[in-house]
Amino acid sequence: MSWDIECDVVVVGSGGGALAGAYTAAVSGLRTVVLEKTALFGGTSAYSGAGLFLPGNQAEARAGVADSVERGRTYLRSVLGDTSDPREAARREAFLTTAPAVVEFLERDPAIEFQYYSFPDYYGVEGRLPGGGHIVPVPLPSSALGADLLARLRPTIAAERNGVDVPRETLGGGQALIARLLLALTATGNAELRTGAAVHTLVTDAQGGVAGVEASTADGPLRVRAARGVLLAAGGFEGNADLRAASGTPGSSEWTMGPRGTNTGEPIEAAVAIGAATDLMDQAWWCPGLVQPDGSAAFFLGLRGGLFVDAHGERFANESLPYDRMGRELAADATRRIPCHFVFDSRERGHLPAINCVPGAKPQQYLESGAWVRAETLDDLAALIDVPAGALRDSVERFNGFAKTGVDEAFRRGTDEYDRYFVGDNPVLVPVDQPPYYAARVVLGDLGTKGGLVTDPDARVLRADGTAIEGLYAAGNTSASVMRSYYPAPGSPIGTAIVFAHRAALHMTP
Ligand code: FAD
Repeated sequence: MSWDIECDVVVVGSGGGALAGAYTAAVSGLRTVVLEKTALFGGTSAYSGAGLFLPGNQAEARAGVADSVERGRTYLRSVLGDTSDPREAARREAFLTTAPAVVEFLERDPAIEFQYYSFPDYYGVEGRLPGGGHIVPVPLPSSALGADLLARLRPTIAAERNGVDVPRETLGGGQALIARLLLALTATGNAELRTGAAVHTLVTDAQGGVAGVEASTADGPLRVRAARGVLLAAGGFEGNADLRAASGTPGSSEWTMGPRGTNTGEPIEAAVAIGAATDLMDQAWWCPGLVQPDGSAAFFLGLRGGLFVDAHGERFANESLPYDRMGRELAADATRRIPCHFVFDSRERGHLPAINCVPGAKPQQYLESGAWVRAETLDDLAALIDVPAGALRDSVERFNGFAKTGVDEAFRRGTDEYDRYFVGDNPVLVPVDQPPYYAARVVLGDLGTKGGLVTDPDARVLRADGTAIEGLYAAGNTSASVMRSYYPAPGSPIGTAIVFAHRAALHMTP
């Protein structure tokens, strides 16, 4: 086998986990090659808010937030429960003890800085930190990144999907995370970054360990040898309809929030082809998806009033639940709830009473496409969305009664810190009584699948018999998540991706 490039570490993908892993390797002196399939760096991580759940870190401490590893341990135990699987217990412990350490490690680089940003944990259980323990990268002037890297940084979701003209002078959220990691990584002088290189095969040595990768590029095949190891941090398979169907993953590749043409799971399949085990393949980081005029779905949250009704015209959950929990409510009774409808009235003059992640979208566009319908009476609205009129009337009447008393006797909406987070002084129980009435179609969206390769606490990829495949590591949505079937707190996807990519790189470092 002849190699086109020889290096120490190959990192597949360029989201937050991939670049944190690549940086860890490169700054430790390892020659590192990053292979990104698309023309742009950042993946879904670039679309994200880049909130990070890393309990007990120094950025929280600087803001005077009393968080700790022990608090994180208690909280995760409350949400996930105790595990009888020693490997899972060790992974969880590795996450907890590495979380503050990785922030300290990254912030040693002048290009990387985080700040605390209050956002509630998603479960009201023991160990929840009031106000949440969540950090984000400090926004960065794009001039610091330079024109070349800026041109190769994936834009925001609003800019890329909806053509909204988002100013780029200052990069925030996921843009800032990827930009800062790119700056730090390139400054090491040990990294080569390639776009347009889609890894499809893991090349093994005589002992069955991984020696390198094979990718396809516009110039033909590219073979890269990795003397120390290959880190697969190439997202999930949310964009792969066939693999979703085969894995029984609810939702749809049409409704995922992942950037089009990115995460279709070839790296997971390549690892399976050499004996890797998978787990949690039916899981994703869920969210309700607001159907868009083009049939795709948008992540929406922060509801000010309104109610969800199922195909029977009945409420089924606290509409203000954290998005993953609401997604799980939708999936729990898919035939009745996907699609469901968000019913609201005209008190916001035809606008959705919610934080809408599509800033430029106009109600008229939704109405014209049929994604929303409008009617003067609830009975007419019921006919338009094909639910029993009496049931819809009853649901709205009962909901309005709760709005009057301020107590949601059915689902306790508004009682949790998270329910009220986005609405300021506005109650979340607002009567729906100002015609015309609207119903917006809602489906099951996701922020990426999170089933994938089974890994150990150092992110080494394991076979079904529990042995490690030498030289192969996985992190982020390419791996089966340490958070299992929960999304405990904001920042869980990228926080865990960064921790395990960092641990993988440390394990590869002699
Ligand atoms: P990605 O970031 O998607 O990166 C994967 C990369 O690998 C892509 O660039 C892809 O092109 C590349 N790739 C795929 N296949 C190959 C291949 N064969 N060869 C080479 N490269 C390949 N999570 C949080 O933790 N905090 C938040 O604040 C947050 N906010 C969000 C907001 C929005 C609007 C959305 C949509 C998501 C949000 N999420 C958030 C979820 C989070 O962004 C994703 O789950 C996470 O970024 C996935 O990280 P990853 O590294 O696994 O994959």
